[in-house]
This record gives sequence, C-alpha cells and structure tokens, in this order.
Amino acid sequence: MEKSNGLQVILFPLPIQGCINPMLQLAKILHSRGFSITVIHTRFNAPKASSHPLFTFLEIPDGLSETETRTDDKTFLFTLLNRRCETPFRDCLAKLLVSSDSETEEKKQRISCLIHDSGWTFTPSVTKSLKLPRLVLSTYTVSFFLHHFALPKLRREVSQDSEQDDLVQDFPPLREKDLVRLLEEKREYLEPYLHMMLEATKSSSGIIFMSCEELNQDSLPKAREDLKVPIFAIGPSYSNFPASSGSLFTQDETCIPWLDKQEDKSVIYVSFGSLVTMTGAELIEIAYGLRNSGQPFLLAVRVGLVKGTEWIEVIPEELKAKLDEKGKIVKWAPQQEVLKHRAIGGFLTHNGWNSVVESVCEGVPMICLPFIWDQFLNARLVSDVWRVGLHLEHRIERNEIESSIRSLFFGNEGEAIRERMKLLKEKVGRSVKENGSAYRSLERLVDQISSF
Ligand code: UDP
Repeated sequence: MEKSNGLQVILFPLPIQGCINPMLQLAKILHSRGFSITVIHTRFNAPKASSHPLFTFLEIPDGLSETETRTDDKTFLFTLLNRRCETPFRDCLAKLLVSSDSETEEKKQRISCLIHDSGWTFTPSVTKSLKLPRLVLSTYTVSFFLHHFALPKLRREVSQDSEQDDLVQDFPPLREKDLVRLLEEKREYLEPYLHMMLEATKSSSGIIFMSCEELNQDSLPKAREDLKVPIFAIGPSYSNFPASSGSLFTQDETCIPWLDKQEDKSVIYVSFGSLVTMTGAELIEIAYGLRNSGQPFLLAVRVGLVKGTEWIEVIPEELKAKLDEKGKIVKWAPQQEVLKHRAIGGFLTHNGWNSVVESVCEGVPMICLPFIWDQFLNARLVSDVWRVGLHLEHRIERNEIESSIRSLFFGNEGEAIRERMKLLKEKVGRSVKENGSAYRSLERLVDQISSF
C-alpha cells in the first residue's frame, strides 16, 4: 500500500463469485493507492476475510433461508437480497459514519464514498439520507450492461420468423438465436429489477467497469451518452492484483505440478464458472470429446455443476479410467494461475466476463460454450468481434468438441486465432500501463474518490 491518504472507501459486493472477485480486485487496486478498505457483505456467500488481512470486513444479516439461496432464478434472489438487506445495510453504514467521525485526529479515516455492485438497487435512498457519495461497479462488460435494460422489451417483441443468425438490432453483437436462449432462463421480477438498477446507476456519481476502451470501442461512447454519469473503464484483470483470492471454493492446487509436467501450450483447460449447471449427458459428451481429441486436459467440475449428483459419478468408470491417462479433473482450479501457465494452449469456457478477461490477459484462445445471461454476449465478442476463439454454437456433442479442440490446436483457423489473441493481449496489456486508456481512467477515478 502507498502511504495512507486518510480516506476510507466502503465496498459492497453482490454475493456471487463472479461479483466478489472483481470487487476484491478493485479493493486491492484502491488500497495500493492509499485508501483504506471496508467491505460490507452478506452472511450468504461471505468472502473469506482471512485471505485479506489488510481490509476490514463487516457482515450484515441477509435473512435468506437455505432454500432461498438455492433458487435458480437469480433475479428473484437479488430482489430478495435487496429487500432484506436494506435496513441492516443502512444501520451498518450509519454506525460506520458515526464512528469514523468520533475517531481522534491521528486515527481519523474519513469515509469518502460507497462503491456497490450494480445489482444493489436500494442504495440511492440510503446514501442520500446519509449524505454519502456513491459509485457503482458493473461486473458485466459495457455492452451487456448497457443493452440488457432492453431485455423486457425484447422479450415482448421476440420474433419467431427472424433468421437465427441475424444480429439483434437493440443488442449487438448478440444474435437472434442467443437471445432466444438467453430469454429461456427463468427471471421473475426482471423488469422492475432492471428499472431500479438503471435508476440507481443514473443517480450515482459514476460507474466503474473492470474493462477498457480496447475491449469496448463501440459501446463506451454510447454508454457515456445514455447513462450520463462519469464512466471509469479502469482495465480488466490486473495480474499484479489477482482476483482469485476472493474464491468461495477451495482451490485444488495439485493441478499446478500436474501442468508442470505437460508440454508448452498443449493443455486444454475446461471450466464453467460458479453458476452454470448442465445435465449428466452433457458432461459425458464433454468428457468423451476431451478424451477423443487426444490433447491433455484440465477439467474443473464444480460440485453442483451437474444437478442432483455428488460430483462426476455420471461419467462411466470405463471412460473415467481413459480420462485419467490424459487428463486431470478437479473441483475448483486456481484459474488465473492455470491460465498463466506455459502448458495451457486453450480454454473451453462458459464465457463468464471474468473468465473472458482473464483469458485475454493471459493470451489464451477460447472455445465458447455459453449457457446463460451475459455469457451469450461475451461469447459473441470473443468469436465474432475480436475473433480470438471458436464458437461451439451450443453443440454439446463429443464429435463437435473433439473437432473444435483439434481446429484450435492444429488448424489454420486456430493459428489465425492465436495470432489475433497475441495482439489483443498486447493491446489490453498496454491499456493498464502508464498513459494507457485504462490507466488514465483509474487516475480519474482515484481523483474523483479523493475529491468527494
Ligand atoms: N474460477 C476459479 N476456478 C474455477 C472456475 C472459476 O478460480 O475452477 C474463478 C475465475 O477465475 C473467475 C470466477 O471464478 O474469476 C468466475 O467468474 P466468471 O465471471 O467467469 O463466471 P461466473 O462464475 O460469474 O459464472
């Protein structure tokens, strides 16, 4: 940490893995700039305070029951959280403000602002009454954040006769077939929830994206125009501030010595993040595809990935034995470390935004297999816009998986993809270096927080 600047920032992440990681990454960046950090978090999916001894963690009750935490409907879960956390959050923040005021001069850390996940929608009234400035962190890419407010309208208008491959006019570079799949997900309360999110963003002092100009050329100008608040695209995944310490799962570190034994750029890493679920039949197809490709592979199968099973018991014994010859299966990998490893040559991914930026930052070409929500748009950015990955078009069949791995590792298209990925990695790497676009944005953010 630079010398303390006497200012404290309060962070409030949404309690899911893909939101906790970037918030803690932001915490590390701000801490390195001299801010002291307090994280207010729910009991549900509480981050591991012991992994971050330099930050203060304060838990608030969320009132969620076991059954409620297991719901598949994310918007319902977030709506419940917003309803149940408002009062405990307000009390916690008010207490913090009073105690910071009553500190002695030399211990005083003035609370400068609140930075909360865009998914917390009750915050405007709280900070208004407490007269505290408020910034929003979006863990989506800029284009998804911007366009997803149109989803309720798109749901009403979805056309049955449009061509599957057509671009969705109001949601580029999403295609019609992606939109149809995206809308299949059960999301009750979507319209009021999005409305409140948009209002909370527009009434904030600014919005932060863990992304940069280089990855959002088309959407940033539109975001500035539509949202009318300062936008800070402070850069994706900083390798000097890895996000993985925010892991809610136990990382299986044994994959690193296993990777050490593999040849350079020979291994395909496969992971589907913290939320996706699939059927047993789909996992079996993926396992066969990996085995038949002949490439060594590292497969992360999270407990809960295949619903109603313990772990990987759906994979037949005879296939499991064959898999062990060439691959390694873990429950949760230290992903950033894995992607950085010289042995990794490709990433078969669900295209969560964190996974996408981590892959770009390490220059690992992707095979896209999105399942839900923003993953469809992220996958199109990877395959159609930046062209640094192949798209499986949701064909979860062993032959498709095998041939996409072969094309990525040995085909001409794979060669071109690797070349483009190398350039994109360099471009994004430059943006977080001195005078790069993300670097300048971070400077502006630090100035803004210091000026509150
Ligand atoms: N991750 C990990 N180990 C795994 C799978 C995922 O550490 O085996 C991390 C990954 O590095 C990323 C986060 O979990 O930071 C997943 O976020 P993402 O946005 O990719 O997906 P989500 O979990 O939100 O669907």
